[in-house]
Amino acid sequence: MPSSPGIPARLAAVHERAAAAAEAAGRDPHDVRVLLATKTQDAPAVLAGVEAALAAADRAGDGRPVLVGENRVQELVAKAPALADLVAAGRLGVHMIGHLQRNKANQVLATATCVESVDSLALATALAARAERDGRTLDVMVQVNVSGEESKSGVPPEDAAVFATRVAGLAGLRLTGFMTIGARSDDDAVVRAGFARLRGVRDEVLASGSPGTADARELSMGMTGDLELAVAEGATIVRVGTAVFGARPTPAG
Ligand SMILES: *Cc1c(COP(=O)(O)O)cnc(C)c1O
Repeated sequence: MPSSPGIPARLAAVHERAAAAAEAAGRDPHDVRVLLATKTQDAPAVLAGVEAALAAADRAGDGRPVLVGENRVQELVAKAPALADLVAAGRLGVHMIGHLQRNKANQVLATATCVESVDSLALATALAARAERDGRTLDVMVQVNVSGEESKSGVPPEDAAVFATRVAGLAGLRLTGFMTIGARSDDDAVVRAGFARLRGVRDEVLASGSPGTADARELSMGMTGDLELAVAEGATIVRVGTAVFGARPTPAG
């Protein structure tokens, strides 16, 4: 059930959490963006979230596009028409944050501005070929499975740097950073270590100087339950659903 009137206040609380965590870590709060994770939310709820985020950005004088993330291509495609004008105006970025099959590359190219969940060379190659055919460049991130949990997608951390340099070298793609889902653990130290691992991969790839890696600065990590830990370890994008939209009716993603 959408709770639209509460969304601006909930989003403000998330921004405060992220900013407080950034300040505690000696970081500039401006360097941490909140992506709205919109799985299971219908288009009106998503738009309510986007409008709240745009209003907050306008108040802060922040001209960067606000970000939403979808887990499933079907939902991405269903909600795309409601978001298309804002995307075309450069006010909204739509990220794919869920596992993606390469045969869905065409649909994703038509609707997303960034694919955060690149985790195989087959997928990367399919996205690159389609982007090149369209004469455009698609932003991508490499998803890394820092916890090693079998339920999670992503390349193993030990393979991530080499994999990322291969993705970065594909024409049609621009590698903008790295994404992970934190360990499912009550032990903050375990969760933080995973986020630190992603930062280490990012730093290694940036330092490599390999072709196409110069823009790979983003660290998309942290959700409702662990965003403070992620910000402490350098997150530049936290992906938040529940804290903004309320509990989801059914587990998804
Ligand atoms: C659902 C989801 C989120 C947001 O999770 P919350 O706990 O609701 O904030 C972030 N990232 C991914 C990949 C997700 O699937």
